[in-house]
Amino acid sequence: CGIVGYIGGQNATPIILNGLRRLEYRGYDSAGLAVLQNGKIEIRRDAGKLDHLVTLVTNQPVEGNLGIGHTRWATHGEPNARNAHPHLGSTGEVVLVHNGIVENFLELREELEAEGEKFNSDTDSEIIVHLIEHAVAAGHSLENATRLALKQIKGAHGIVVFSSREPDKIVAARIGNAGGVVIGLGEDENYVASDIPAIVEHTRRMMFLESRQMAVITRADVKIETLEGKPVQPEIHTISWDP
Ligand code: GLU
Repeated sequence: CGIVGYIGGQNATPIILNGLRRLEYRGYDSAGLAVLQNGKIEIRRDAGKLDHLVTLVTNQPVEGNLGIGHTRWATHGEPNARNAHPHLGSTGEVVLVHNGIVENFLELREELEAEGEKFNSDTDSEIIVHLIEHAVAAGHSLENATRLALKQIKGAHGIVVFSSREPDKIVAARIGNAGGVVIGLGEDENYVASDIPAIVEHTRRMMFLESRQMAVITRADVKIETLEGKPVQPEIHTISWDP
């Protein structure tokens, strides 16, 4: 449903919470965030309104320069806390938020379970983080692993992931029309979101992923390629209206 991500010099937590707040009008079943704190991925997530997540973060604060958040519109799996995004892989080193539906998730899940993989939610989304993690374990960079994972899933998607092994980047991708991926360009910091209002208070310079494009977002720059690995020269838009 709603996605916000940040990499830079500030604390990602309030930026993500404020961004999710700006997307609240869409409604949702749960909210969560993942922040890289001292090299380790910390997750806070809960069912219900964003206020539940805010309370959780107030009681168990989390701080770091890299993070992603999500508000969920449940399609597969109850709207409870364990199905709230972000979803962490089994190694605890890759974390994902996802908009859309993995149409072939049941068969992929059965395959992975047969190989001994453990699942921590009932969502279709969780399969993606396991696929990425397997490709990372086989030696691929996070962006190549994401590309390989996306080749295996059917449907329309917006995804944003990061890894504690490659703590200098966020990878975002879009397939079809399951929600947009907007990248906000800052000074020595960058943003990503599903929608403009989530990040426009921080920057008005934005790029929009088209279907089958992927962005590797670092503090200093943004590199966009197609899922086939062809470089894309993105257009930078200046948002002049106030959402
Ligand atoms: N299909 C996913 C789920 O049910 C993502 C839903 C969404 O787009 O918020 O968790």
